[in-house]
Amino acid sequence: MADKRDYYEVLGVNKGASDDEIKKAYRQAAKKYHPDLHPGDKAAEEKFKEVNEAYEVLSDSEKKARYDQFGHAGVDPNYGAGGAGSPFGQDIDIGDIFSSFFGGFGGRRSANPNAPRRGSDVETTMYISFEEAAKGCKKTVQYQAISTCKDCNGTGAQKGTTPKTCSACGGRGQVTINQRTPFGTVQTSRPCDACKGRGKIIETPCRTCNGRGQVRRKKTVEVNVPAGINDEQVLNVGGHGNSGVNGGPAGDLHVYIGIRPHPIFERRGDDIWCDLPITFAQAALGATVTVPTLDGKASYEIHEGTQPGDVFKLKGKGVQHLGGRGRGDQFVRVVIEVPKNLNNKQKDLIREFDAAMGDKNYQKRKGFKDKLKDIFG
Ligand SMILES: [Zn+2]
Ligand SMILES: [Zn+2]
Repeated sequence: MADKRDYYEVLGVNKGASDDEIKKAYRQAAKKYHPDLHPGDKAAEEKFKEVNEAYEVLSDSEKKARYDQFGHAGVDPNYGAGGAGSPFGQDIDIGDIFSSFFGGFGGRRSANPNAPRRGSDVETTMYISFEEAAKGCKKTVQYQAISTCKDCNGTGAQKGTTPKTCSACGGRGQVTINQRTPFGTVQTSRPCDACKGRGKIIETPCRTCNGRGQVRRKKTVEVNVPAGINDEQVLNVGGHGNSGVNGGPAGDLHVYIGIRPHPIFERRGDDIWCDLPITFAQAALGATVTVPTLDGKASYEIHEGTQPGDVFKLKGKGVQHLGGRGRGDQFVRVVIEVPKNLNNKQKDLIREFDAAMGDKNYQKRKGFKDKLKDIFG
């Protein structure tokens, strides 16, 4: 009994052999020692038993995992003495005890580490131009996300090997401990130390992902940015976040939108504001001016006597309402530029012009002079 041969040796396969390799080896060995082919042969009969026993363990992932970790002691309680021993400490926190009475507090780890879990969401920032935000656009977003490792298909085990079910916890990721307390004997559970709560043991970790089954890598996705999106708004791209585990769905990608400043336009809600510098002469006489809009250049009639700071509106020339119909307006604020760097001839002309002006031409100045008189006499 104590000299039991290694099960892999019995089947003639290497430790880490795939299920198919084990199955194939078993069929060959069973055929070789089958009692029908060796009537009365005691040695062949013993070999046949041995092969079947080996296959019974190695074909069962849970038993195989336990065998892989603890040898014969892991699958045969009668083998040797003392078994594998308990790898778990006896320190139990009071939360565990209460959770076993009251069904647990929120946030305790899920009982089954092999259950599919959704990946977490990923956040990234994308900058777009003023026009792209106003009119909508298609954009390719580059970001980093956790993806399933392609080399091991997420198992974390090197190609050609498979992760073993944790023999310490039978793959549950949790171990149950009976603890005597003032309330009586209480069954508590805690994450399995042997597999760190994962329920699986990886003997030969995948070199690409170091056994994690996931890698962080650059991903790209094409997104439709809707017209009217504003600075600091978030686009949700479903299913493009971090990969899930155990076949769970991926999380979402959240794209925070940043809008680059425009050299001329300023956005206020869905309205667009801009300054328009004009000359003193244009303001005084009226003029046809060119105004930039989202749709290109527009022509606008400045009326006679336009004042600094006057604002005119271009209806419907603003930003598209997000998810709705229609557009905001464009507001154009007049800036009258006082000429600089005048030569002597220009100065003389202005002096001549100014001398020809009277109170009728400067009503604000006239009103101000009148107020001064009222106050100071
Ligand atoms: Zn891998
Ligand atoms: Zn375990």
